[in-house]
This record gives sequence, C-alpha cells and structure tokens, in this order.
Amino acid sequence: MVGGYSPAQVTDWLMPGKNLFLTIHVLGVACFAYIVARRLMPLLRAERDPRFDRPLARLGKVCQFWVGQWKHPRYKTAGTLHILIFTGFILLATRAFTVLIVGISENFVMPGLSGEAGHIYNVITDYAATVVFLCMAVAVIRRMLFRPARYEVPARFGKGHKADAIFLLALIAILMVADSLFAAAKSAGQSQQGQPLESLAVLSLPWLLQVALASASLPTLGNLYFGAYLLHEVTFYFLLCYRPFGIQFHVETSLFNIYFAKLDHGTLKPVKWGVSDEHLDQVKSFGVKTFENFTWKHILDFYSCADCGRCSDNCPADTVGRPLSPRFITIKARDYAYRHYPMFGGVANGKPLIGDIYSEDEIWSCTTCGACEEECPLLVEYIDKIVDLRRGLVDDGKVPQSLQKPLKALESRGNPYGKMEKKRSDWVNAKEFQQVCCVKTVGKSDVAEMLYFVDSITSYDARMQSIARATAKILDHSGENFGILGAAEKDSGHEARRFGEELLFTALRDRNVEAIKASGVKRIVTADPHAFNALKHDYKDMPPVEHISQFIAREVKAGTIKFNPLENGKDVYTYHDPCYLGRHNQVYDDPRDVLDAIPGLKRVEMTRSRDRSFCCGGGGLMLFYEPKEEQRMSVKRVQMAVDAGANVIVTACPFCMTNMEDAIKVAGLEGKMTAIDLTELVDQQIAREAQKAA
Ligand code: SF4
Ligand code: SF4
Repeated sequence: MVGGYSPAQVTDWLMPGKNLFLTIHVLGVACFAYIVARRLMPLLRAERDPRFDRPLARLGKVCQFWVGQWKHPRYKTAGTLHILIFTGFILLATRAFTVLIVGISENFVMPGLSGEAGHIYNVITDYAATVVFLCMAVAVIRRMLFRPARYEVPARFGKGHKADAIFLLALIAILMVADSLFAAAKSAGQSQQGQPLESLAVLSLPWLLQVALASASLPTLGNLYFGAYLLHEVTFYFLLCYRPFGIQFHVETSLFNIYFAKLDHGTLKPVKWGVSDEHLDQVKSFGVKTFENFTWKHILDFYSCADCGRCSDNCPADTVGRPLSPRFITIKARDYAYRHYPMFGGVANGKPLIGDIYSEDEIWSCTTCGACEEECPLLVEYIDKIVDLRRGLVDDGKVPQSLQKPLKALESRGNPYGKMEKKRSDWVNAKEFQQVCCVKTVGKSDVAEMLYFVDSITSYDARMQSIARATAKILDHSGENFGILGAAEKDSGHEARRFGEELLFTALRDRNVEAIKASGVKRIVTADPHAFNALKHDYKDMPPVEHISQFIAREVKAGTIKFNPLENGKDVYTYHDPCYLGRHNQVYDDPRDVLDAIPGLKRVEMTRSRDRSFCCGGGGLMLFYEPKEEQRMSVKRVQMAVDAGANVIVTACPFCMTNMEDAIKVAGLEGKMTAIDLTELVDQQIAREAQKAA
C-alpha cells in the first residue's frame, strides 16, 4: 500500500475505490459473458459432432499439445517466443487474479501465497512479467520489420490481420507494464515510508521501474500506484473482451479445441454423425453448403486459429500456387462468422459458401496430404472440412469435368480407367513372372492365409504392374500362402470418398468387404498406401492389414529376407514418404530400415521428410484433375531430392511413382535421376540364391 491505502481504499475518485473496481469487474465479466454467448451461437446451430468420448486420451492431448506446447518448436523463433509467453501467462494467472481481487478486498492474499511462498512466487512472476513484456516487444518488431513470408496475405485471399495482431501484442505489453508499475510504485512508496519492504526480483521490469522511481515524491508514487492499478484493470478487461473479435480468441478457445481434437489419424468424418451408411439415402443434403452445415467443432477450429500461417507454409497446394491456402479456409470462415453472427441483431443467412467465400477450384485443389494438420499447433482440422465441402459440391452436381469420366467408370467397372473387370489380374500373366512366381486367385476353390490387395492403378497401369509383380515375388520368397481377389476386387474407393463421392465409396467398399470375407483370408497386405488407409480406417471388421514396407521390414529383421550388396555404389538414394503411409499412418521407419539393410546403399534425407514430407501431387482421382498451378508438386519434390544430393528417389506408393517419373521427365532430369518403388528395389536385391543354398 502507498500512503497506507490499497486501491480498494481510494476515496478521491468519482466513487470509492472498492465500488469503482467492483463496477469494472462486474461490467468486464458481464461483457465477456455476453460476447462469448454470441460467439457460441453458431456452434449451437451447427451440425453435431460427438467428441466427448475417451476423456483420458483427450487429456493426454491437452498435456502434450497445450501444456507441453509440443508443436511449437517446429518453428524455432516463433515457437520459442510462444512457449515463453505461454509459460509466462500460466505463471502470471494467479498473480493477475490476486491483483484483481485487491481492488475490492484490500488485504486479500491468495491462499497458499503468504509468507515465504508468496515471496518466492512474486520473484518468479516479476521475471515472468518481464519475459512476457520482452517477448511482446520482439514479436511486434518481428511483425513490423522482419515479417516472415508466411504472415503475408496474397491479394486473392483477402485482407491481412497485421494491425489487429500488433494491437493485441501492444495491449499485452501495456498489461505487463501496468502490473510492474503497480508493484514498483508500491515498493518505492513502502521504502520511503519506512514500511517493511516487498523486495522485487533484481533486474526484472518491476525492479527497474522501482529504481527509476526511487526519488519520486510520495504523492507522485501514490498517483502512479493507483493509476497503474486502474490501467491494469481496464486493460485486462478490454483485452478479455476484445480477443473474441480478433486473432487472439485462441487464448480462450485453444484448451477446448485441443481437448476435442480428432483422435484418430487417417480417418474421415461420416457424412452425418449418427446416420449409418444404410440410411445415407435418406439424407436430404450431403456435405457442407452453408456455414451452419459445419460441425460445432469445426467452427471452434475457426475461432481457435492463431493465424500463424504454419499450415499454409507447409501446404503443397499453396507452395505451387494452386488457389488453396488452408489458413484462409479458416480465416475466411471466421470472418464470415463474425460478419453473420454480429454482437447485436439477427444471425445467420444460410447463403452458400461456394461462390461467396470459397471457390470450387480452391476446394478441389487439396490433395488431402495432411501437412497442414500435422503442422498446426492448435490441432485445427482441414481434411474433414474440405471433404465435407466436396460432398456439398458433388450433391449439387458440381463435379469438375475431368473427374466425371473416371467417377462413372468407378461406378460401372470398379476402376477409374473403365477397363474390364476380368483384366484386373492380367499382370500375373507376364511370361517371365509366371516362370518364377505363381499367384492364385482366392475365393472360389483356392484359399489362402493372406490376401494381397492390389487396387486399381497397380492392377491396370502397365508401368505400375511391375510393383504388383515385385510384391508377389517378395511374398512368395518369404513363404507366404497368399492370393489375390482378381476380378472380384474393386477399387478401394479411398479417393472416391475423399473426393466427396460417399455413396460410390460405400458401394465399392461393400463389394470388396463381401469378397474379402468370402475368401476367408486371415491377413491383408497391400503395396498401395491409399488402399492401406482405406482398408485400415474406412472399412470395418477387416482382418489385420499391413503395408508391404511393414511386412518387408519384419521379414528382414527375422532374417527371411537377405540382400545382395548394391553393385553400383555410386548412386545416392533418398526416400519419399507417401502421405497416406507416413503422415496418415505413421509408417516412417520401416521403409528406411529396409533401405538401410541393403549393403552398400547410400541414403540421404530430403529437408522435408517424415511428417514434413512434401506431397507428390496426390493419388487416385487427383491424377485426373488438372488444377490451376504455377508448378507441379512432383517437380518441386524431385528438385528437393536433387538438393539433397540424391539421384534415386525411392517411393512406396504407385501414385508417387507415377508422379515422380512424370516429374523427372518434365524437369529434364532423365538420365540424372530415377525413381523406383521400394518393392522393386527389394525384389532386385533379394539374395535368393544364397538363401536357397543355405
Ligand atoms: S491436406 Fe495438404 S493440400 Fe490439403 S490443405 Fe492441407 S496441406 Fe494443403
Ligand atoms: S490453422 Fe493452425 S497452423 Fe494454420 S494459421 Fe491457424 S493456427 Fe496456424
């Protein structure tokens, strides 16, 4: 207290201090409650989304991603700043609450924080306030002078929120100064009055201010003390009530957004929660067409985005100049919500989002690679939203021209190329292959322990059939009793589903499930990560499914597969992580372990690898779609391999192979760079003779 008074005891303002601060508290809390209630309105009108299951797993996410700030260090400078600010806020929370109460209860001391414990806490929070203040200063300078490219807003995506960001950072800095000045004036006053001194942390902001105020008169200190308190109160509540209008609403929503985040990788949300596939034909409208068609969690995502730009910075579509930037899928929706759910007056207008805030090309440009979701520190989801928007487009008959033919072929023939079903297993008829490997078709008279699910591109594409033959030879070499479904196999439907064609997907899935169940197989293996993801996550009650890279890694470990040394020791290999094997299913090590087991193989990593892998351009129906772009994703990826010093790209996906081989030609790198599938390389290098002799 300065002059023997606490803020609660001030009498020379418009009203007694206690009444003044009580009024500020009541008004501040009431305003905040009203604003949050208005912000919750769209969530209450949105589609349902059952996210109340598995509380322990959800708490684990909170510990990892909210308390532990797990993803922030992926960007070193911004991440360090954020961790410091977050930690400072957590430490300062009790102090801020105590300061608020002091305005209405002069002798208030937070339980547990009297005596020595209180002193230690004050020292810690003096430094915390200082660190937060410094971080704000650095963040403002960074935003104004050294603005990272990812904060920029291309004209096609609307206006930026730079002024808003700087204003909010400045408000927090003011809050820290007010808090520190309050403590400094109090301490300087106590010193002049010969009262027992609350010592401040040396070199902290409060301490520096106290040193600066040492010679100030007692009345000046009194004014600063009460003025700083008032400034702290007003700034605190202004900030609280202003945040839900800007990019810092995540301070309030992030904890909930992370708690309710999606728990399962690789899965896709159903068309409507609570509606089973059998009743899909009764759903009047599919997908997201208006804002209210989003689920409440997806709207919470919009509120929670910190506009940090990490998602778009890693989005391959954005990188190659497609009309899609995930950050703006969110920002445009949030701006829409704020416009159409204002603080006063009527809400919602039910206008279609496509044509208003989103374009059709924007929504079709996504490869569903998952890089955006992997990067987002707040676990904002994109794939489900984009697929839902596609479902809406499909429902309205707005399917791009180039996709109509393959979709029709999928419906009539079970593959996007329109080829005959009976030709699905033609790849087994190659003469040389038949001499070394016999592949049976399970289902009629033949039975097998394991099913090799081939899927469409590997079955029909002449170049990719080599992957099928290599896979079969590896299984054969490992002594597996395996077979294929042949004409009974249909496309897995993975891409049809991700392109919004849910009914087509369910039809394909049901026919495959029927054939698989009838075959009696106990395990499934596939060399196509899209089929792998579909069988694992989109199908139900399937036998255990593995990607061939997992199978090979296990056999190498068990000694069933041994390798000959590479003859050409000059080649440098790099492994490209397919999105549906890596990011969506976390299979990163198995393919690398297999490569590292080949004697003499030199392997380098591309800068963007593992969970930061750069999509090859997309598989399945994406091969038929011609997006507007400045550069092909696959060309960019091949360039990354060149930069890493590699001349052989190893993939583990037939779509990646297609894209990489095309890109090598487009980039003029034929003769300098090659691409090979992991199965092809393994098949080439297996030490068959040595093992037979042994
Ligand atoms: S899933 Fe991939 S392509 Fe789609 S928005 Fe995210 S990062 Fe971009
Ligand atoms: S969605 Fe996530 S990564 Fe993207 S800008 Fe928002 S907070 Fe950043």
